[in-house]
Amino acid sequence: MERTLSIVKPDGVKKGVLGEVIRRFQAAGIRIAAIKMIHMTKAEAEGFYAVHKARPFFSSLTEFMSSGSCVVMVLEGENVIRKNRDLMGATNPKEAAAGTIRRDFASDIEHNIVHGSDAPETAAFEIGYFFNALEIH
Ligand code: ADP
Ligand code: MG
Repeated sequence: MERTLSIVKPDGVKKGVLGEVIRRFQAAGIRIAAIKMIHMTKAEAEGFYAVHKARPFFSSLTEFMSSGSCVVMVLEGENVIRKNRDLMGATNPKEAAAGTIRRDFASDIEHNIVHGSDAPETAAFEIGYFFNALEIH
């Protein structure tokens, strides 16, 4: 059993695809162990994406992530880090496989609807960034 952090980013919330994203998770047999809506400050988004702080898109990315409400979730299941990344598709929606969330809904490489942890270590950091133990069921 594994856990991962999912975020429906501000573009996904604004486009009204939250329900469809959750539907796809549940149809894939993924359990939602925690969920809440948040609106990050720029500083909070910078802390979350600290690993990318040297990248040229860091400022724009953290501006975008703090531009509106996000829905953060803890997903649970066997191999769920990989399964979630497969449902999301490639970072750039133009390169994402047909039927993936990003291919179906994302407008560009930055505004790509969803975030998903990429490894057990990042999942542990990212879950702890938004949730305490009592909020995970
Ligand atoms: P992923 O979200 O697929 O794990 P990364 O960890 O590489 O992708 O990047 C984090 C986020 O930064 C992406 O989801 C996207 O919103 C943004 N991003 C990545 N690459 C670029 C880029 N070249 N230009 C603008 N934004 C980018
Ligand atoms: Mg990443």
